[in-house]
Amino acid sequence: MSGIYLHIPFCKQACYYCDFHFSTSLKKKSEMIQAIADELILRKNELTQTIETIYFGGGTPSLLTIDDLRLLIDTVYENYSVIENPEITLEANPDDLNELKIEQLANSLINRLSIGIQSFFDDDLQFMNRAHNAKEAMNSLLVATPHFDNITIDLIYGIPSMSVEKWKQNLQKTFDFGVSHISSYALTVEPKTALANFIKKEKYPPLDETLAANHFDVLMEETTKNGFIQYEISNFGKPNFFSKHNTSYWQGKHYLGIGPSAHSYHGKTRSWNVSNNARYIKSIQQKILPQEIEKLTNNDRFNEKIMTGLRTIWGVSLINIEKNYGIEIKNKLLNNAQKYIQNNTLKIKNNILLITDKGKFLADGIAADLFVV
Ligand code: SF4
Repeated sequence: MSGIYLHIPFCKQACYYCDFHFSTSLKKKSEMIQAIADELILRKNELTQTIETIYFGGGTPSLLTIDDLRLLIDTVYENYSVIENPEITLEANPDDLNELKIEQLANSLINRLSIGIQSFFDDDLQFMNRAHNAKEAMNSLLVATPHFDNITIDLIYGIPSMSVEKWKQNLQKTFDFGVSHISSYALTVEPKTALANFIKKEKYPPLDETLAANHFDVLMEETTKNGFIQYEISNFGKPNFFSKHNTSYWQGKHYLGIGPSAHSYHGKTRSWNVSNNARYIKSIQQKILPQEIEKLTNNDRFNEKIMTGLRTIWGVSLINIEKNYGIEIKNKLLNNAQKYIQNNTLKIKNNILLITDKGKFLADGIAADLFVV
């Protein structure tokens, strides 16, 4: 089984922290939709497995009309073998969701909404330069929840002005709406973003890692109390509502990434499309895939397994490591993991290497320390 990711590279305005690929000019929207449909057709023989998930990400896919979305979904169905009832997710921003749009989406094949709420407070939203306000955040959930049972929302923590009390209120509002899934990430400063520039010029305060760690502890505690399972460090789902699409990334399944900047994975290779809308459209019009391909070495694949495995509740199977990479690599891994087992940030249970609650906030650093080079 595999998945298809469709990157919709348009946004109304640039959030200060964002380093994804998007354009705030929608002038080329129609050409882009056609190019994405054409890329789907050009690559129809690339995946041998049946499609079980389709994911509209971005950018802001909710800027597309229902006809745009239908065209892309129809193109997938016409050119790929798709299971019955695939998971089809649409990332949506609150300011795009009104009663009419929700009804249109509910009447399409889209069955999962991922709403970029980020915070229910205006000052946080303004700090990040989000296009929506707190009222729109609430309204989007008010209109969406009667039509969709599979809703995930994004929340950002570690914002300098956000007290622990305010963070708890954000979580409580989320629980009150009864959503079945939460993705929650700490605000981070990516190079070349407006946020990085503001902090450098002291227009914005630097981020406080201790505050973020406190928020993360509250997040784990409150989600557990409210029946969510932290199946990946930043993802919390009610039983039966884990993201199938993202889980397939973490479990190493193959996927196709369509659209500018989208990444694809075929087990032994990874490829990515050009991050430029005009160049992407031109190349697809000439029937040339605008992509670069990287052959993954054994070490690359091992490191990826460690990074993704440690972030999930499925951990890293030591039996599989030995089977796929040999006993020497497995012993090296065990050796490198010892100090983390001793300080209770990693543990081994039934031959699976797992991150502990104490280690979760530091997972990426621990994983990187276990890499082979
Ligand atoms: S809406 Fe999403 S993709 Fe667009 S700028 Fe904001 S964070 Fe980035």
